[in-house]
Amino acid sequence: MELAQRLSRISESQTIRMSKLGRELRALGIDIIDLSIGEPDFDTPVHIKEAGKKAIDEGYTHYTPVPGYLDLRQAICQKLKRDNDVDYKPDQIVVSTGAKQSLANVILSIVNPGDEVIIPTPYWVTYSDLASFAQGDIKYLKGSLEQGFKITAAQLEAVITPKTKVFLYSSPCNPSGTVYTKEELAELAEVFKKHPQVIIISDEIYEYINYEGEHASLAQFDFLKDRIVIVNGMSKGYAMTGWRVGYIAAPLEIAKACDKIQSQMTSGTCSIAQRASLEALVSDMKPTKDMVAEFRRRRDYMLSALRQIPGLKVNEPGGAFYLFPDVSAYFGRSNGDDKVANADDFSMYLLNKAHVSTVTGTAFGDPDCIRLSYANSMENLEKAVARIKDALGALK
Ligand code: PLP
Repeated sequence: MELAQRLSRISESQTIRMSKLGRELRALGIDIIDLSIGEPDFDTPVHIKEAGKKAIDEGYTHYTPVPGYLDLRQAICQKLKRDNDVDYKPDQIVVSTGAKQSLANVILSIVNPGDEVIIPTPYWVTYSDLASFAQGDIKYLKGSLEQGFKITAAQLEAVITPKTKVFLYSSPCNPSGTVYTKEELAELAEVFKKHPQVIIISDEIYEYINYEGEHASLAQFDFLKDRIVIVNGMSKGYAMTGWRVGYIAAPLEIAKACDKIQSQMTSGTCSIAQRASLEALVSDMKPTKDMVAEFRRRRDYMLSALRQIPGLKVNEPGGAFYLFPDVSAYFGRSNGDDKVANADDFSMYLLNKAHVSTVTGTAFGDPDCIRLSYANSMENLEKAVARIKDALGALK
């Protein structure tokens, strides 16, 4: 069978692969602690689930408008005003089957073959695959652990060329948890001001999982407003990963292009999930706040516990639910036949020896690091840290 050549431009998501591997080992009866998870370990709040059930009973079982129900798009506009102080109209919003589809729509709408796409590292796995699927020419920009995994205005200035079409980033960041401040974004915004051809895709899906205070967005700089696309969704902040609802807020032309692509790919998102999302957006945020308080407690624990393990260099994440330690001090060490030459080996070593699943940093564009998720119970985190410590202690 000869499959289409475009398939060679993407690979299976490494995070999904690791979850699969963990599940397979668990099926063999091995007690795997899963720190590769990319979703809250909390259940969707009850009032949101109830809204989903009510939607079924009320007959929300038909096709939906391609960009989403109008009242949901209105609620998204109100959310953007309330939380981010940015003004959008409903026709600038496109609701999709997860923020992943939103990103795919946007990238396919604006990237032509050969267009440069700037992606700061570390980045979320899907960015590079989507950009290369659209035949973009990816330029990576290294945000090192020493600089809190943030890029500087000088770095950005140095990499932009007249062929640069897109800048794509997330804050809070998956995998580093890095949160850009308004001041830091202001410096980047000044660079973008000089390069009006660059469209900015700002992935804000971890907006609410922020331990540092106000969420800041490049969309808050008026002079960038006509070339910024906000990507957000329900998955992380409302523990709604399985409902599959994401959205963009974009310049009208881009919103229309995404609507057109979506009309031929999937049509409107699930009716029931949209009704539940509407309830989430207009109701009390207490469940989210409680969840974030628990994530902060776990982050503090993991930070101090991992920093006590010799050889791990651990950043302090300001948001999301991941740590992204530099593990390169262990490269070149071994335990019997198990050799750790790189982050891929390191992650596999932890899986096989400590029975803790993590994700190699290679998947996120940083081959010195691994990603550990603390979207797991405190009890499991404590157990995982003890196992990791033992397994690393045995590497000579
Ligand atoms: N953006 C980032 C940075 C993510 O980590 C994820 C999920 O892991 C997504 C987007 C996609 O979210 P969803 O498709 O569940 O809305």
